[in-house]
Amino acid sequence: MSWKRNYFASGGGAAGGAQGLVTPRTMTSIAPSKGLSNEPGQNSCFLNSALQVLWHLDIFRRSFRQLTTHKCMEDSCIFCALKSIFAQFQFSSERVLPSDALRSALAKTFQDEQRFQLGIMDDAAECFENLLMRIHFHISAETREDICTAKHCIPHQKFAMTLFEQCVCNSCGATSDPLPFIQMVHYISTTSLCNQAVKMLECREKPTPDMFGELLRNASNVGDLRNCPSNCGEVLRIRRVLMNSPEIVSIGLVWDSDHSDLAEDVIHSLGTCLRLGDVRPPHTHLYLAISVRTFTGVQSPSLEPIQWINL
Ligand SMILES: [Zn+2]
Ligand SMILES: [Zn+2]
Ligand SMILES: [Zn+2]
Repeated sequence: MSWKRNYFASGGGAAGGAQGLVTPRTMTSIAPSKGLSNEPGQNSCFLNSALQVLWHLDIFRRSFRQLTTHKCMEDSCIFCALKSIFAQFQFSSERVLPSDALRSALAKTFQDEQRFQLGIMDDAAECFENLLMRIHFHISAETREDICTAKHCIPHQKFAMTLFEQCVCNSCGATSDPLPFIQMVHYISTTSLCNQAVKMLECREKPTPDMFGELLRNASNVGDLRNCPSNCGEVLRIRRVLMNSPEIVSIGLVWDSDHSDLAEDVIHSLGTCLRLGDVRPPHTHLYLAISVRTFTGVQSPSLEPIQWINL
């Protein structure tokens, strides 16, 4: 189903529908923009898009620049490789840079797991997530990933979402034990994102700026069903609550097939305003990091300041 085609073709949409649900704000990033090479057979597009997201996130770029000491892993050191490519982004006169050193450090680091190996395609969002966890390792190795409070740890200080999930039965009142966890990327199914967009637009005159947060919340809840904790027979939706206020919220889009026809709809569903409701101050600026990989292999990281999120 194509909500974008149906909605805008029927004349019900906002003027300039091709702009997406929400008109993007001015980009605040002034980072120089360069391409990253991806020769035939290299299959580095997943890494390149993760890298572009990190480079174009002001908060990450500036904080990372200040880090100097780290636990070095020599030729498999992701920290050193990242420092080197960031220096090239900033100072090189080339328009297109090779990401080979980082690609190789990544392959060596994940050799045992057989992830991110040379020449083999992999997932951009998972690569992004793993790059963050490796940075944590290089700069605060002594702290466990799930309880890291190191002030200088950019991944945990800026990106980590602390959530808990719980089932509450409306029928018998039983509740499951709250399960706390940390996530770096919030994954959403593109199919449920588009289906929810259709549903939400059915009862609205036109898209509104606060719609994206609600859309994410609705799309996250779909399909995640559990049995009632006291087995009363009720099937429940799991409830997830965001407990902290990360400066950067990363959304990973999960495609249900390699040949999804939803790419255009998804891009038009992306908004830049997320509200956490009345619970949190609405003046905090967050950054939304979305890496869109189209099936033609073109990456276009889209980075916009956003408001709040309630997952
Ligand atoms: Zn190093
Ligand atoms: Zn950490
Ligand atoms: Zn129950």
